[in-house]
Amino acid sequence: MKPKLVVSILLVFPLWLFTSRVGAQDLGPKFKKIKDGIFVYAGRPSDSNCTIIQTQEGVALIDSGNTPPDSVAVMKAVKQLTSQPVRLLINTEPHSDHTTGHFVFSPPAIIVAAAGAGESMRNAYDPERAKKMMADPGELGAASKGYRLITPHVEYRDKATINVGERTLELFYLKNVHSEADTAIWLPKERVLFTAASVGVKRFNNLRPFVSIPDTLAAIKMMKALNPEVVIPGHGDPGTVKILDDMERYYNSLLDRVRQMVKQGKSLDEIKKELRIEGTDDWEGKDRFANNIEAAYRAVTGS
Ligand SMILES: [Zn+2]
Repeated sequence: MKPKLVVSILLVFPLWLFTSRVGAQDLGPKFKKIKDGIFVYAGRPSDSNCTIIQTQEGVALIDSGNTPPDSVAVMKAVKQLTSQPVRLLINTEPHSDHTTGHFVFSPPAIIVAAAGAGESMRNAYDPERAKKMMADPGELGAASKGYRLITPHVEYRDKATINVGERTLELFYLKNVHSEADTAIWLPKERVLFTAASVGVKRFNNLRPFVSIPDTLAAIKMMKALNPEVVIPGHGDPGTVKILDDMERYYNSLLDRVRQMVKQGKSLDEIKKELRIEGTDDWEGKDRFANNIEAAYRAVTGS
């Protein structure tokens, strides 16, 4: 009996090591496991996503959380998962709901973003807002201790490839889709794609005056060609390529309808009053539909 017992202990031991690894359930309900070692966090459904990517040589993060309390929650999860540091933080965009929490991770994290991200962050920086955030008597103030503006250490143009441990992260600059410096991130081995805010999930994106629907459609086409298994948008639930298909369909019908109405001689104001796009009744951010129509109008009239 004795030798048999020894064998079974030896067999069980590696299994025990494996199953004792921290899973999404241990991190709490705001974390979703995407693949082994890849966890997405969002404090509330419409908040920006922050993703932990474990590697054999430390952690890579995609964005730093919607607000400092979110960044602190993510840091806590990282410490539960591993004793290794966050080595790399990649920004999908420079807006504050993706970047305010950089100070929680950096140093030591090296922050990487598309060219123009640092300038965009410096331009948007409001010292009064920062002071107010730090003086908050609640959770926000507590989590903002030590806050300072940290802009990217590395800015790339067009494309970059980063190798950390066993993982490869391919960065693609997305032109005119949301901010001054949007980055899609592609993990070719895991087939996981981060789209930045180029697409939303049942959500009208805020199409600022420089945002181009044709450029966004080109970005969607490029991302679909990667053939992703998992798609993680800047905001909203992770899903599949359907997220890209749905936005592509929406922008194409928006362009078609606005083109038709312009041909009928309708003004931009008339189009805004009359136009509805099927399948968007349950979408969030309806107040942004007007700037979506403006973007479509710019595209079809060349204005
Ligand atoms: Zn944004």
